[in-house]
Amino acid sequence: MSGFEIRTVGAREILDCRLEPTLRVTVETDAGFRGRADVPAGRSTGSHEAVELRDGEDRFRGRGVRTAVGTVEETVAPALAGTDVRDQRAVDDALRDLDGTGRFAEIGGNTSTGTSLAALKAAADGLDVPLHERVADVAGREEVTLPVPFLDVIEGGELAATELGFQEHQLIPTNAESFAEAIRMGAEVYYELGDRLEAAYGDASRNVGVEGGYTPPGMTDPREAFDEMLAAVEECGYGDSFALGIDAAATHFHDPETGTYSLMGETHTPAEMIDVYDDLTSTYPLESIEDPLDEADFSTTAALTERLDCQVIGDDLFVTNPERVERGVEAGAANALLLKVNQVGTVTGAFDAAATASENGYAVQVSERSGQTPDPWLADVAVGLDAGQIKTGVTRGERTEQYNRLLGIEERLGGDGHYGGWPPAT
Ligand code: PEP
Ligand code: MG
Repeated sequence: MSGFEIRTVGAREILDCRLEPTLRVTVETDAGFRGRADVPAGRSTGSHEAVELRDGEDRFRGRGVRTAVGTVEETVAPALAGTDVRDQRAVDDALRDLDGTGRFAEIGGNTSTGTSLAALKAAADGLDVPLHERVADVAGREEVTLPVPFLDVIEGGELAATELGFQEHQLIPTNAESFAEAIRMGAEVYYELGDRLEAAYGDASRNVGVEGGYTPPGMTDPREAFDEMLAAVEECGYGDSFALGIDAAATHFHDPETGTYSLMGETHTPAEMIDVYDDLTSTYPLESIEDPLDEADFSTTAALTERLDCQVIGDDLFVTNPERVERGVEAGAANALLLKVNQVGTVTGAFDAAATASENGYAVQVSERSGQTPDPWLADVAVGLDAGQIKTGVTRGERTEQYNRLLGIEERLGGDGHYGGWPPAT
């Protein structure tokens, strides 16, 4: 007996930032080492994600997770009892075996994600190391890196009540020396952008979307967003110290019947969508595009990746699934992975997807979900995975708590050399 064997796994229904139920899972070992993790949830989800277990009754309009709580306590806890939390793969394999569907359709991807993360934290507690060190250890990474923040300052798509088709319009600090400097620069531009949007689009611009970005009424074109963002950068005296990024989340304006995309009142074929992005990257310092096309369209995504000199990220395309990343590599689709642990349902599943990405020269961006809590494990995952990039919205406590954790980690690591910067070293 080492004391690291799981004694209990418990869960409760808590609320995320959208006032929707989610799971909080606690793992405790024989020696009393403890890990507690909150499970995130998406709104603009990919159809190949691990399946969430929701109650589907009247309470919380069907979004309750009491069944998942019961699954943790009655099914997962006895199955995992005695498993050593230092063997993360054993924990995750046990969860996969227990489920047996390959997609966590039986025990729930929320159940598995919470348990897997709580075990990771319990191991860090027992080993008395910071969580990012434990992440690096499990992932086999030698470097730890403070990530570049992708700040979603203007929201559209599924995540905000604006008329913008793209879901996120991101600022990417390029010339910062540290994470602390990057976030300060981003914050200053965010304040300035708020003033500009208020003047041009009215007071209601300052209402924020799910990720804490502005929601200017009447703004319909991403070029308007980019113009305002770049003007704010200029006004702050940061010249070319910022690049731009988007999460197009194109699946959500794609019509599977016709195979076309509806954007700004126009209908585009997949080939025309490449022209749309080409035009944007030629006109603006747009250096990162997430999900430019439908989640099923590997071939047009490959053609776009080939044509544009730009980071192309697969989110709904890859759903943090190592097999889908491999398929992307074979097709030449995208050159970066968006990593969301709950899309695949376990820590090692997500780390395997990151490894497949890195081995094939793909970048990795660690990402929040639209449904979050202030549990800051995301920050540690980004650092420990040496990912170099994080997106976690811009304001609201569940977002800034990730930034606060990163500030703390950077301070504790001390000195220079831990911030990756943008563009990433290849
Ligand atoms: C995204 O699409 O990248 C996103 C963060 O949204 P959600 O969490 O709703 O999937
Ligand atoms: Mg996305």
